[in-house]
Formats: sequence, structure tokens, C-alpha cells
Amino acid sequence: MVDLSIENKLKAIWELQQIDSKIDQLNLLKGELPMEVADLEDEIVGLNTRLDNMRSELKTYEADIVGYKTGIKQSEELQKKYKKQLDSVKNNREFEALNKELEISGLEVLAAQKRIKEAQFHMEAKQNALNLLETNIEGRKKDLEFKQKELKTIVTDTEDEEKELMQTRVGLLNEVDERLAKAYARIRKNVKNGIAVAPIMRGSCGGCFAKIPPQRQSDIKQHFKIIDCEHCGRILVDNAVTGIVAEKIVEEEKPKRRVRSLKATK
Ligand SMILES: [Zn+2]
Repeated sequence: MVDLSIENKLKAIWELQQIDSKIDQLNLLKGELPMEVADLEDEIVGLNTRLDNMRSELKTYEADIVGYKTGIKQSEELQKKYKKQLDSVKNNREFEALNKELEISGLEVLAAQKRIKEAQFHMEAKQNALNLLETNIEGRKKDLEFKQKELKTIVTDTEDEEKELMQTRVGLLNEVDERLAKAYARIRKNVKNGIAVAPIMRGSCGGCFAKIPPQRQSDIKQHFKIIDCEHCGRILVDNAVTGIVAEKIVEEEKPKRRVRSLKATK
């Protein structure tokens, strides 16, 4: 691997920061949409699972009812048989036994009818819940469709720019070593605004605005090693790296006339 000078590495990491900030801006355009789309997709999957469960519960009730009805039919067949046998009973015991059977069979029919009613009651409630759920799912699907469309529009609008930035990014990553790239990624993750490389501004860190001691400032300008902010941990770079002429800062400090003359001499 080519041994790049610290200055080149700093320039590359600064450039990388500019690219990443632009990518962040593009992502900001998408806002919460990608997350909202993913959440909605998950939600719809969950609702559909619930719908499937409800449908299979309904089927179970249906099968139960068919079973009860078959049982009733069988009982009624038996009752017919017993009643026929009653016509030809030979003694009192036989008569009583048959009557007992008829009674039991009658009770079984009643019990089955009761269970059918209960099952039908549960089915009706389940069916109502299922209809509600279906309406709910339809609504969520429409929300999803809308958000997907919205996201797609933004993505299409920014696609080319993002692609280009990504390509530049890959090229820049080759110019910083792995350790620096890792540190950069770690800092970016830890700071709110995603700025891991900050310029020195008026002797302060451009990220957290903490004062940088003069010795540290001059060390940063030497480009001998990579120096971070003692307060926020951001990598610090000077104007030689950023190429930023401190116009904005001068503007704040000095009257406008001075700014114009500075610009003219640039
Ligand atoms: Zn700082």
C-alpha cells in the first residue's frame, strides 16, 4: 500500500466528510419515510398473520358445528330405532331401558344444539373482528402504497446524485488507511450531526466550539499526525486542509469593507 502523507490523509478524510454530509442531506430529504415504510410493512405482515389465525379459528368452529350436526342426526336415527322397538317391548324392564336410552339421546341432542349455538355465537364475533381487521389491513396497505410512492419519488430525484457521491466516497476511502476510516466512522456515529472532521474556527473546534490550546493548534497545522478535539473527539483540520478561507468568521468580526478586500485578494 502506498504510504500517504498525513496531509493527504487529512485532505481525503475532509473530502470524505463533505461527501458524507451531502449524503446525509439527501437522506434527510427522505426523512422518516424509509423507516415508516419498513414499520408499515412489518405491521401488515403481523396483521395478516392475525387474519390467518382468525380464519383457521373460524374453520375450526365450522368443523365443530358439522360434527355436532352429525351427532344430532345419529341421535335422531337412534331415537327412531328406539321408538320402533318400543312398539314391540316384551316386558316392563325392556320398556324402561328403552325409555332411558331415549332420554339420554334426547339430552345429547339438546347438548349438541347448545354447543352449535355457542359456536355460532363465537363465529359471529370472530367474523366481525375479522371484517374489522380486513378493513384495517386495507387502510394500512393504502398508507404503505402512498409512502412508498413518496419515497420512490425522492429516491428517483436524488438517485444519480447519490450514486455519484457513493462512487467518490469509495475513491476517497482508498486514500485513508483502514484505522483512520474506522475512527472516522466511529466518531460520526457518536456525534449528533454526523460531522467527524471539524475545521478550526476562530481557535475553536468547529464541531463543539471548545477552545483549542495554541500549542495544539500549531500541532494541527504541522500535519505531523492526526489530532482530535480534546472535548468532542472530532478530527481537527486547519485551513490548509479544508481550503476554506475564513470569510464567514471575518465577516462576523470585522466590518464589511474588510471582507470585500479579502475576497478581492483571493
Ligand atoms: Zn470539539
